[in-house]
Amino acid sequence: MYGPKPRPFQFIAMRKMIFLSGLLALVLVACKNNAADQSFFDTQSMDSSVHPGDNFFVYANGGWIKTAKIPDDQSGWGSFYTLYDENQTKLKALMEKAAAAGAANGSLEQKVGDFYTSGMDTALLEKKGAAPLQTMLQKIAAAPSVNDLMVLLAGAEKTGEGASFLSFYVGADERRSSHNILTLSQSGLSLPEKDYYTKKDSFTVGVRQQFQQHVARYFELTGMAPAAAQADAAAVLALETSIAASHRSPVELRDPLKNYNKMAVTDLAKTYPNLPWAAIFSAMGIQPDSINLAQPRYYAGLGQLLKTVPLAAFKAKARYDYVAGKAGLLSKAFRDENFAFNKTFSGAKKQSDRWKQMVSRTDNSLKDLVGQLYVAAHFPPESKKRMDELVNNLQAAFEKRIGALDWMSDSTKTRAKEKMGAFLKKIGYPSTWKNYDDVTIKKDALFENALQVAAHDYKETMAKLGQPVDKTEWGMTAPTVNAYYNPTFNEIVFPAGILQFPFFDGKADDAINYGAIGMVIGHEMTHGFDDQGRQYDAQGNLKDWWTASDAEKFKAKAGGVVAQYNNYVVLDSLHVNGALTLGENLADIGGLAIAYDAFKMTPQGKGQEKIDGFTPEQRFFLGYAQVWRLINRPETMRTRITTDPHSPEEYRVNGPLANFDPFYQAFGVTEKHKLYRKPADRAKIW
Ligand SMILES: [Zn+2]
Repeated sequence: MYGPKPRPFQFIAMRKMIFLSGLLALVLVACKNNAADQSFFDTQSMDSSVHPGDNFFVYANGGWIKTAKIPDDQSGWGSFYTLYDENQTKLKALMEKAAAAGAANGSLEQKVGDFYTSGMDTALLEKKGAAPLQTMLQKIAAAPSVNDLMVLLAGAEKTGEGASFLSFYVGADERRSSHNILTLSQSGLSLPEKDYYTKKDSFTVGVRQQFQQHVARYFELTGMAPAAAQADAAAVLALETSIAASHRSPVELRDPLKNYNKMAVTDLAKTYPNLPWAAIFSAMGIQPDSINLAQPRYYAGLGQLLKTVPLAAFKAKARYDYVAGKAGLLSKAFRDENFAFNKTFSGAKKQSDRWKQMVSRTDNSLKDLVGQLYVAAHFPPESKKRMDELVNNLQAAFEKRIGALDWMSDSTKTRAKEKMGAFLKKIGYPSTWKNYDDVTIKKDALFENALQVAAHDYKETMAKLGQPVDKTEWGMTAPTVNAYYNPTFNEIVFPAGILQFPFFDGKADDAINYGAIGMVIGHEMTHGFDDQGRQYDAQGNLKDWWTASDAEKFKAKAGGVVAQYNNYVVLDSLHVNGALTLGENLADIGGLAIAYDAFKMTPQGKGQEKIDGFTPEQRFFLGYAQVWRLINRPETMRTRITTDPHSPEEYRVNGPLANFDPFYQAFGVTEKHKLYRKPADRAKIW
């Protein structure tokens, strides 16, 4: 999941979750609302000149693809984007209403309304200019040594003002999932991943040049002279290039065992003595006994750099990180510069309207407060009830499939069923809403409001240390158009935001709902059993429950899926990365099969009645393809291929179908069609 500035591995609390989609449509335009009496599958959007067996994604969506236009402020367009866009419009109305309510100071409406308003007063932001940055910039400038700088930045995390040399979150200990632990991760890069610092192709060389100019412009905006700004920008790029050498790649980060390195803090200090650990933790206000050092090489590398790179370079990097993190809270010059650089990765042609930026920021800041307003207005109780039924039906279908697997021993099957039966299921919104009682929001203080929220989040996160894991917590806000599986909770989570057309509609026939949200549910369930998820047990512990021979068989089957997706060429010579996308592809392949089996248990699935000329089975596959109806700008595609664990949408449709026998039968697919795979080559795992 990423926005225009992709930092997909720097989530804090959300680091371990596995999302349905990597698309985070940060900026969208208003478009028509889906009327209640719509047709649930739009035959006009198809392209019947293409045989379904040659390219089902284009067969189902080709008519739409030919006429679809990506709005100028978007990185792509289609299902996720339009639904996100509708939610933005709904949230805007709720936030404006809250702002106009004249609610009592400290009330939910006052906080939401005033937070939103504080970002809409752009005249006030102009007047403040770079002034809000100065206190922290001066502190950075005054740090007498690298150790002092590290301690300053660690302490500044308390108000969301730390720089990114340290990246940490508190979450379940993977080997003791009922207890929280502090995890330190690799950090310090501004470009999407390590290879952007070394690749020699003209695109990537250009990205590095643009990055350096971008850093220099930020420095000038804070008052530096051009020559000094240029010199410091070069130092930032050089330092990040050195840091990148110690980073793990996105593929390496997918290995849970490799990224679990629990150690006593006393050993941390002995093994990585170049960092002032005791002072860092003290500045952070915590006293952990042990931590998970997820990527040790990064901290070893950072320790070396602290001894060899001049203090001035670290300060320049800290200043850049600080400004970049706050640009959206500042005057137009900062916001424009932020957009000008980020469009390299998103391809967007113009900046989104301010209200859209503030709707997102308010939702991401006052999460549960906004969620309460959204759920009360837009999530009917019937939706929750219908989803409960669907999830239970999918679970029953999955259990049957596990029982029928021809490659797995009975003992592993028993464990698999136990894990599947233990799924924690969360639908719509949290059972208890969190409050923000310690947060004061003012309508003329966007910058300070953001610091207040960051301070609240920090306190809440650190309060978990030493406490048992609270499994009622959510990792996404209720309006989010996405879903996730969280391996240490062994949970599947579907926020209210995604439980709408085209993913879900209480009035649509079962073929459409099972092909759409059914597949989404099956996808999240399968994550519990993909190449990562299968390494966690029913309680969410990283603990092997497989027989050696079943594990070997699984790996061989997964290897076939890696090879299949490696062959998909997306853009010029860019291929899908089969290893990076393996978990998502396995979830798509499994999710499709489980959803199909569950559909076949419904009256419509058992019948033969055609709708719009399509059999129930054909309609199921069309509903599935419709959910992934989406086009991307080339710039977005390039960024996604290097960092997003999800395959591009075309392959999220064609890849699983090419492995699925009922698809061949439903559309008469044979050797002469392009999607055809020999029966022995078709991936049948879950
Ligand atoms: Zn997924």
